[in-house]
Amino acid sequence: MKIKPKKRFGQNFLKDRSVLDKIAEAIPNDDHHIVEIGPGLGDLTEILVKDRFVTAFEIDYELITYLNNRFHEVIKNKRLTLNQSDILKIWDKASLHDKSYNLVANLPYYIATNILLRAFDDKNCKNIIVMTQKEVALKFVAKVNQKQFCALSVFCDLVSTSKTIVTIVPSSAFKPAPKVESAVISIEKNSLKIDDEFKTFLKICFKAPRKKLFKNIADSYDKVTLNDIFDKLKINNDKRPHEVDTEQYSQIYRDLKEKYE
Ligand code: SAM
Repeated sequence: MKIKPKKRFGQNFLKDRSVLDKIAEAIPNDDHHIVEIGPGLGDLTEILVKDRFVTAFEIDYELITYLNNRFHEVIKNKRLTLNQSDILKIWDKASLHDKSYNLVANLPYYIATNILLRAFDDKNCKNIIVMTQKEVALKFVAKVNQKQFCALSVFCDLVSTSKTIVTIVPSSAFKPAPKVESAVISIEKNSLKIDDEFKTFLKICFKAPRKKLFKNIADSYDKVTLNDIFDKLKINNDKRPHEVDTEQYSQIYRDLKEKYE
């Protein structure tokens, strides 16, 4: 069965066996279920079902037909549960699994950031081992003072106990090859859920990433109050948003909330 990759679903199939193995090796050795988003032609799925129970969500009907054939036996043995669905619609209603799970995927890049943010909010998701475009991966794992440090880095710090790049992957590892390099990231989650108000506050902080943080926040909050808070926390008013760390963002937010309540 010949399948033509569909651009609109971000279908770049990972063909390099050594990268597939690196993704599988990065999965913690626990007894959590595995959820895979976008199994595609099933090359990663085949490695996953060797050791674990897997639930996979694939949007493309044609691929579902192919996967049902390829994994006929494994599906019969219940090691693999295959769902034809749009992952974002599933998340609108519920968690991707009713018990603890690790999310493993070569993500469709057009919705990679959205998927990571949904996984942060899903309390049953315990670990995330996924491939994204390198630029997005670097934003999530960035540390303070690195130029990529942004609101996504702060979110990731808050919901995780560790975040790392597993490997950088050249576009030649895929068929068809994407235009950009990719990276596999590993995020070990804690149990914190970020509230929506804090998310809005961070968007304000990073709205002009090269301007001063003080100026970004002062456009939305009282300048004098903010000045007092920066003084108290010993944060210089000239700092740019990427030069202030996650703990300091949390403190500024808490102090502002206290003043405004
Ligand atoms: N896992 C395969 C691999 O590594 O070769 C395929 C990865 S490919 C980058 C992304 C996969 O996600 C495709 O199979 C695509 O059809 C699927 N996909 C795209 N959008 C999706 C969505 N909203 N929900 C579920 N799957 C989706």
